[in-house]
Amino acid sequence: MKKANEILSSPPAHWVGDGFPVRGMFGKHVFTESVSPFLMLDYAGPAQFEPTSRRRGVDGHPHKGFETVTIVYAGEVEHHDSTGNHGVIGPGDVQWMTAGAGILHKEYHSENFAREGGDFEMVQLWVNLPAKDKGAKPGYQSILNADIPTVSLPGGGEARVIAGSLLDQTGPAKTFSPMNVWDLSYPEAATSRIELPEGHTCIVLVRRGSVRIGDGPEVGEASLAILDAGDARLEITASSGTKALILSGEPLGEPIAAQGPFVMNTREELVDAMRQFQRGAMGNL
Ligand code: MN
Repeated sequence: MKKANEILSSPPAHWVGDGFPVRGMFGKHVFTESVSPFLMLDYAGPAQFEPTSRRRGVDGHPHKGFETVTIVYAGEVEHHDSTGNHGVIGPGDVQWMTAGAGILHKEYHSENFAREGGDFEMVQLWVNLPAKDKGAKPGYQSILNADIPTVSLPGGGEARVIAGSLLDQTGPAKTFSPMNVWDLSYPEAATSRIELPEGHTCIVLVRRGSVRIGDGPEVGEASLAILDAGDARLEITASSGTKALILSGEPLGEPIAAQGPFVMNTREELVDAMRQFQRGAMGNL
């Protein structure tokens, strides 16, 4: 049975631009092999925004060598990128963006959400690309809430399958390495038993309520548990109203060279990425 090797509780928040009050949930594990193939997990909100005519967010910036996965739970995120695409990510929707060879984009509150204000909550997960795919064509998968299948879990609770497979359902996200991204909800307290691929990095983020992994300690709101990879069986006991995100993925086992918005395998590649950006070779917004 899996157990939590480490529990990281509600780290302090910082602002990304003026739109996203985030907590960096990976703590000291950010950009390390210990969470591979995942790199970073920013949990934005829950927060309340007043109506405004201003566009809160992050202005144009690059990414290269990995993927950004934006899961919106409340509010709306609008984006523009250098491939010419533009869209709005609404509650329940997921944007799975492949920065790959290099992309510029901006991310901000949608016009509608800025004008109306209200609750805002989102996760942005950074997923590393295998070395052979770091030059992949930039683009994104726009995954709507309606495209994400839901399964009932043995023992109670249910899961939205965003990526990977769970029981008889397969998530819509196409990934470059094997991984699972599941959004769990427990309308009632329950203990559910799930199988995960052995050897996968396995992480649980609790957004609401609390869970216990096996007979381990409580993992509360805005906390993250890093589980052991050695056993396939996960027993998760959730309090009523719990909402949690489960990530699992096959570790890439490749060197990580990360600086700001670029994640490559070597220092030299990082320098190249910086030069590519500075000479305007990641396109225009
Ligand atoms: Mn970005």
